[in-house]
Amino acid sequence: MDRLSNPQKTIEIIRKHGFDFQKKFGQNFLIDPHVLDKIIAAAEITKDDFVLEIGPGIGTLTQYLAEAAREVTAVEIDRKLIPILQETLADYGNVTVLNQDVLKTDLAAIAREKNGGRPVKVVANLPYYITTPIIMGLFESHVPLESITVMVQKEVAQRMQAVPGTKDYGALSLAVQYYAQPYLAANVPPNCFIPRPSVGSAVIRLTQHREPPVQVKDERLMFALIRASFNQRRKTLLNGLKNAPELQLDRDEILRAFERAGLSENVRGETLTLAQFAALADALAPDSGEPGECF
Ligand code: SAM
Repeated sequence: MDRLSNPQKTIEIIRKHGFDFQKKFGQNFLIDPHVLDKIIAAAEITKDDFVLEIGPGIGTLTQYLAEAAREVTAVEIDRKLIPILQETLADYGNVTVLNQDVLKTDLAAIAREKNGGRPVKVVANLPYYITTPIIMGLFESHVPLESITVMVQKEVAQRMQAVPGTKDYGALSLAVQYYAQPYLAANVPPNCFIPRPSVGSAVIRLTQHREPPVQVKDERLMFALIRASFNQRRKTLLNGLKNAPELQLDRDEILRAFERAGLSENVRGETLTLAQFAALADALAPDSGEPGECF
């Protein structure tokens, strides 16, 4: 089977199987070999690697992965693509295709079974409608990960690597950067896909930290503070936190924590670094009272 990474071959396969693109599954198939080479290079795939691919489509990226890696498992939700994948991947003995919803798949079990629990590389041209749940799901469910190299909407890539005080900085930047180091590998225009998406795209690699860059007593509290702070972006951090029903914090309690964390009363959440959010969470954690305070 020839490589699928050109418009003619892609159209030929789609017509042959009478395949209709499903917008609801975010189906935009890659047709540019240079972009595929860039994805493989950014992911630094070697013959030792087990790769998990999300959404193989007709198998365009899967062919490249199968050639570069030791083994590939690809999870595809659309059952109409399964017979196509059987044909396009027939020459590759190191690929397993699972017809499943990735959000309902036990990816840690796949890593255990296929890679002895060692960190895996995730590579995908993601369905954009579920980018955040997929990436946060991978991090939060503690799938052993080395890196995630993915095509995402360009604006999402910018948010993932944004720094404090910029317009793109937000809860996604902090969440991604708590778990990983982002690296923007390429910008990709709409004409590299069939059908063309209405937005620009980018390839981003997220290399999982061995240790989180900050230590925090209560991770969940820190992320609740981050969410509350960016839910009310135009308010000061004090007002954002005071108005957040899930936090149940009063003004004095917040101000005492601000003092302990070295923050000023009128600080805005969008200027805080991850380390400052961690310090604030620690200052609000139940056992963080001043020594001797209760006597
Ligand atoms: N990898 C192919 C390529 O680069 O040409 C296709 C990428 S396309 C942007 C996204 C793929 O993800 C589609 O094949 C779509 O059917 C699949 N997909 C969408 N939602 C999914 C889900 N919840 N679980 C698994 N696959 C999904």
